[in-house]
Amino acid sequence: MDAPWPTASTRFAGVIGWPVGHSLSPSMHNAAFRALGLDWAYLAFPIAPDHLEGAVRGLFHSGCSGLSVTIPHKQAVIACCDEVTPAVEAIGAANTLVPLGDGRVRGDNTDAEGFLRALDEAAPVDLRGQDVLMIGAGGAARAIAFALDERGARLRVANRTADRAAELGDAVAFTRAAMEEAASDCVLVVNATSLGMGTDDVPTELPLDALGPGTVAYAIVYRQEPTPWLAAAAGRGARTVDGLGMLLHQGAAAFAQWTGTEPPVDAMRAGLTAG
Ligand code: NAP
Repeated sequence: MDAPWPTASTRFAGVIGWPVGHSLSPSMHNAAFRALGLDWAYLAFPIAPDHLEGAVRGLFHSGCSGLSVTIPHKQAVIACCDEVTPAVEAIGAANTLVPLGDGRVRGDNTDAEGFLRALDEAAPVDLRGQDVLMIGAGGAARAIAFALDERGARLRVANRTADRAAELGDAVAFTRAAMEEAASDCVLVVNATSLGMGTDDVPTELPLDALGPGTVAYAIVYRQEPTPWLAAAAGRGARTVDGLGMLLHQGAAAFAQWTGTEPPVDAMRAGLTAG
């Protein structure tokens, strides 16, 4: 018979969100713990917004070894942190909490690092001085804008709610024609909205005609198969990057901080696709 598990010495980490039942993070992180033989478990904690601060404090006073943060808590959780990294200050959101001892917590944002690592892995491109079009200006887009600025890209942003676009870069009108025109000058086009997540058709709003062999198309929504927009971009010869890579690498960066161990990226990728 297998030894009883978990035991009193099993360490735990998890993801907080509301709702959180759809999260792929438990499959990814538990695969990593198994691959390294670590006596750790990763759980999903549904936490209503009204209980956020009490839950975060309670978890870290209960020995929690690390938390991922997802919608809708990424901004509000900053108020629960005793310190935050420069990335959190610049982006205005945290997706990773790291215990500092005595219940104290550091907030970090690994979405920017995850975005860049997935890009470097799937479709490396020199962004310095180059134009990039980002569609979307929500929380994830803020992290991506920070990442692209670090790489020296010139950012153009189209968003349904126009004034949010102007906060992140040179605003482009949220029309197909304006986005096609902007995309034709860009080495990278990022769809940082949830458009295209649950559909079998390419959303009519998104640029496509301007994409080709000289372009990288990147959609950050995560699904097991490419979004129709990404598939259509690949059909036009563009290199493509999907959201699973970003999810993987933001998680790997968090895992490294919690465990102090090199993350087993291949095992985490396998855990994600099995999840
Ligand atoms: P968010 O803060 O709610 O922002 C949503 C963005 O999508 C906004 O720009 C919003 O425009 C736009 N949008 C939503 N529905 C739209 C529609 N029907 N037409 C046009 N624009 C629409 O969400 P978020 O946190 O940035 O997340 C965005 C997506 O990225 C989600 O699908 C999320 O799951 C995914 N994500 C992936 C990763 C990863 O690791 N791969 C990480 C984070 C997020 P308005 O400003 O006009 O509302």
